[in-house]
Amino acid sequence: EPTLELTGISKSYLQGTPGQVDVLRGADLALQAGEVVALVAPSGAGKSTLLHIAGLLDTPDAGEVRVAGEDVTRKGDRRRTRVRRQEVGFVYQFHHLLPEFSALENIVLPQLANGAAQKAAAARAADLLAAVGLAGRAGHRPAALSGGEQQRVAFCRALANAPRVLLADEPTGNLDPGTADQVFAALMELVRGTGMSALIATHNLELAARMDRQVKLQDGLLVPV
Ligand code: ADP
Ligand code: ADP
Repeated sequence: EPTLELTGISKSYLQGTPGQVDVLRGADLALQAGEVVALVAPSGAGKSTLLHIAGLLDTPDAGEVRVAGEDVTRKGDRRRTRVRRQEVGFVYQFHHLLPEFSALENIVLPQLANGAAQKAAAARAADLLAAVGLAGRAGHRPAALSGGEQQRVAFCRALANAPRVLLADEPTGNLDPGTADQVFAALMELVRGTGMSALIATHNLELAARMDRQVKLQDGLLVPV
């Protein structure tokens, strides 16, 4: 069973006006457990729209979104928020870490919000930091970390609640090529150690080629590369 399944997803903006844009026109995607998939899309092709729908931040006009087999497309906000918090992790181009908290605390907080006990949350955060080579940086605030370190902490935070699906939007877009490579390797390490799936939007064709497969957004559909 796929961790995330999008079926026949359509989305238009400014529907019924002369400015109508049909961004998605029946897009399909199934992420299997353990799979890392590259999402390649020219600017304006609908990458953000797709990621927002996949992450339950937006709803499609037509089609279904299933997370771990559950159709959550038209569920209420409470259920969708709950599924998003537990099952979906997000990473963006910018880390969005909380500046006044340490690296460790940034990874502990989402676990507390999800009902975890302080001690268990801290232990998990420390394990995640160690897995990306940042055991020695747990007490540092984001401003005291390099760009690559900040982004590795952001990955740890995204995985804090052990989601089934990781959605990443240009996660290495702000980094120089060498650092991007290291950060990508750290991400693969984290994902490989679990049964989660990852959908990673990137313009970096070299990184895309290192993932399990690539899909491209073209004319509102997802097609294999
Ligand atoms: P990408 O992330 O690939 O650049 P987006 O999903 O942000 O693409 O947008 C796809 C298309 O939809 C673009 O043409 C954009 O201008 C249009 N669009 C996005 N959001 C809106 C909106 N809220 N209202 C109108 N048009 C939008
Ligand atoms: P962009 O990719 O548009 O540049 P940023 O990287 O600056 O965006 O990150 C801000 C992102 O936070 C936006 O893409 C927005 O959709 C996303 N967002 C909004 N609400 C939530 C939420 N509740 N949980 C996670 N992300 C959210």
